[in-house]
Amino acid sequence: MLSFNPDNVALPQGHYINGEHRTDGGSFFSVSRPSDGHTAGELAEANASLVDEAVEVADRAVKESGWASCPPRQRGAILRRWADLIEADTQLALLEALASTRPVYDVKHHEIPFTAEAIRFYAECADKYSGDLLPTRDASLGMLIPEPYGVIGAITPWNFPLSMASWKCGPALAAGNAVVLKPSELTPYSTVRFAELARQAGLPAGVLNIVQGSGAVTGSALVAHPLVRKVSFTGSTQTGARIMSDAAHHGMKPVTLELGGKSPQLVFDDAGDIAEVAGRILRGFTANGGQACVAGTRLIVQRGIADALIDKLIALCQGFKPGVTWDENSRYAPLIDRRQAAKVQQVTEAAVRQGGEILTGGKRFENTGEGYFWQPTLLSNVVANSPAIQEEIFGPVLSVQVFDSEEEGLVLASHPTYGLCAGVHTKNLDRALRAIRGIAAGTVWVNRYGRSGDFIIPTGGFHGSGIGKDLGRQAFEACQRYKSVLIDF
Ligand code: NAD
Repeated sequence: MLSFNPDNVALPQGHYINGEHRTDGGSFFSVSRPSDGHTAGELAEANASLVDEAVEVADRAVKESGWASCPPRQRGAILRRWADLIEADTQLALLEALASTRPVYDVKHHEIPFTAEAIRFYAECADKYSGDLLPTRDASLGMLIPEPYGVIGAITPWNFPLSMASWKCGPALAAGNAVVLKPSELTPYSTVRFAELARQAGLPAGVLNIVQGSGAVTGSALVAHPLVRKVSFTGSTQTGARIMSDAAHHGMKPVTLELGGKSPQLVFDDAGDIAEVAGRILRGFTANGGQACVAGTRLIVQRGIADALIDKLIALCQGFKPGVTWDENSRYAPLIDRRQAAKVQQVTEAAVRQGGEILTGGKRFENTGEGYFWQPTLLSNVVANSPAIQEEIFGPVLSVQVFDSEEEGLVLASHPTYGLCAGVHTKNLDRALRAIRGIAAGTVWVNRYGRSGDFIIPTGGFHGSGIGKDLGRQAFEACQRYKSVLIDF
């Protein structure tokens, strides 16, 4: 039985610093429940002095607790225990589902196992990847020695609060750093429990700290803090640009930026079974209500199968049912808040004003009270410069473009700003390989759409979609700096 009453859940009321709950800080902000618009709670924002304290605690903890210097296998063992506690915990799913867009069924069956496995993956990295011996002159020994940065500042978005936290904390902690994490102010609760469980698993106090608050106050204080030696950020392209600039001006610290996308799903006439392809396209743009960086929101389909595929998609879109995230039968996510719903509506209306046609959806579900459940929406005849083609909407809206030749399809698939990922659907291997070469994106999926549980595959964008990678060995290596050593003997 996964359903629960959201009014009966005890919520952690603040920050988690040095292994203790803290409720002090500056002004208060309120958190609402996307499923019904009710206020879930109010939290004090971490102001600059509380952020200072959290970072200083982290800096001391990483030096004095021995976290950075202990045998890497010992770090790995603590991380593995943490992953076990995450999987066994009964509170995490409630805290995640209550005030985010994630239905409790998905949280329990996907998000929590995915979070735990990401931590396990990095537990294994702790003693597997190291530096290098470099070929040098005779009587010299050249080495590249990795070492942790010290304190890493991590900032995450609201769309997958727990897994985003695991992608940041897993590699940073495995590499021997301390972390100060600021989750989105829209989804603050589950990460506090996530950090408590790390402590229970044996992570020394102060090595993982959570500070709550807005980007403007808490996030910018974290980026600017002189003891934060690296910033790992996931969020929008606009905020990423601001963080990169702030990090450059406050100590020239390196950044990993996982940013937005406007990803194409390129479907050729020879893609195979239409129902199967339609299922992939559908999941690609409706998962988490379309609020996924990797959402495949541009369907670029070859003329020969366009009508059949669109008809199938319309039928599938009309089968969705809204339901509050604390009901175990709900599978479809609400939009996070009123602002996000307004954005989805504006973009849809702009497309229609420019001559676009709504094939299905285009509005909120009825009888969902103050919950922001948006109907899966298909738009056709959308002009190329429409926001529905150009901008990341972060809602379940798919724009359809039809092409004739392979060259034309590849041109449409490219985006002037974003390059996060792309789906290519074809049974022709040569064509798939040409598309992989031709599309500028950090990830290309062929005959699938979406990540697997293979954490060895990194994720990260080209162009406006980001710098660096999360997941994979690359994320672990990016949490270390490399010292060149030359010894003459
Ligand atoms: P956002 O950029 O508004 O906020 C992200 C985080 O940054 C929040 O915690 C916010 O408080 C903080 N922030 C805002 N301004 C800041 C500042 N000046 N200094 C420091 N921190 C600041 O993004 P969002 O609306 O929370 O999330 C949605 C975005 O995240 C989408 O663009 C989505 O594509 C992107 N995203 C990308 C990936 C990826 O792997 N590429 C994954 C998930 C989400």
